[in-house]
Amino acid sequence: MLYIKKMSIGGNKMKFKLGTQFYLSAFLSIVLITHVIMLFDSMIRQVYACTIQNAIGCIVITILYLTKKKSNPFVMIFFILLHLELQVFMAIFFMGWKMQFQYYYLGIMVFSVLMSFPLDSRELTKKQKFLGISSTVLFFSSYIISRNINPLYTIPEKIADRIALLNYISIFSGLAFLSNLFRMNAIRFAYMMRNQSLRDELTKLYNRRGIRAEMDRAIDAMQTEGIPYAVAIFDIDDFKLINDTYGHDMGDEVLKKIGKILQDFENEIITACRWGGEEFLLIRQNSIYKESMEILAHKIAGKISQLEFNSDGTEFKVTVTAGCANSDPELSLNETLKIADNRLYHGKQTGKNKIVSYDINQ
Ligand code: GH3
Ligand code: MG
Ligand code: MG
Repeated sequence: MLYIKKMSIGGNKMKFKLGTQFYLSAFLSIVLITHVIMLFDSMIRQVYACTIQNAIGCIVITILYLTKKKSNPFVMIFFILLHLELQVFMAIFFMGWKMQFQYYYLGIMVFSVLMSFPLDSRELTKKQKFLGISSTVLFFSSYIISRNINPLYTIPEKIADRIALLNYISIFSGLAFLSNLFRMNAIRFAYMMRNQSLRDELTKLYNRRGIRAEMDRAIDAMQTEGIPYAVAIFDIDDFKLINDTYGHDMGDEVLKKIGKILQDFENEIITACRWGGEEFLLIRQNSIYKESMEILAHKIAGKISQLEFNSDGTEFKVTVTAGCANSDPELSLNETLKIADNRLYHGKQTGKNKIVSYDINQ
């Protein structure tokens, strides 16, 4: 991965991503250069240097947000806020209160603090409280101090107006961009939560709720266009024995591997889900051929029986029993599933490790 090393900042162990470090050092280099220019050049150039620096600061903060991904946002935001504080203080020191730098800073600060808050919890951690309180205290203390500073250089009214305008532009464009990022984060989070609620944690297959949409699609195609579907319910043979003999963790491993096989069989018309503890459901839409689900189930069962497991040197294999059923315009989905379940039960009663796709008394 891109992480280059773990660092300890203020007692917190952080991983720093190469990309973030790169942008951060590039940002600081630019800041350093502009400060050097400001020290040695004429006053009017200082004014422009300060404004350019603010604009660059805005861009860099945005890039940092875009690239931060897994790096710790708390440290980064605190670092940026601290820097902005110094920067604004210097700008006011050189050019006076009129330039509106303080609003630029306030806007960025509020959004930075807001964006560092997690979307998945209402509780604020100690770090976030610290970030919120300290940046507010910093802002108001610098506000009071800088208001009473006499600028080193009094800028002509005309230029002052232009700089103020530039600062307003950077405030609004910066805020618009940050609020958009915030919105995107919220959308990403909502999508992630939705996805999580539809998937089974262990096997990553759909859970019962997740497969609902596919079921509705199958029923709809059946009712409106007469396109049939087929279902198969798989149940691991003697799974309790596997758990009892090799341990629950090994049982989980078996479930995961079987989940992976089912996932490999998924496509636009085939969807799998974890139907229960050690039961899996397969639904195949557009299932024209009557025997196709049976063939598919045989293929899947074959792949599962080839899996090899090793528990402390003891090798073992697993088998499954499945019950298949084709849709019927006369039957509801629940009735079709019931048929598959009865066939599965029949398979279990008659020796397991088999696919049953016919009626018991046929
Ligand atoms: P049969 O061949 O008749 O299906 O027998 P079986 O032992 O597979 O069936 P039974 O229903 O008696 O046992 C199912 C076991 O599956 C019991 C339960 O502890 C186990 N199980 C359910 N969910 C999980 C899980 O997430 N992880 C593990 N390791 N075991 C699970
Ligand atoms: Mg079972
Ligand atoms: Mg079982």
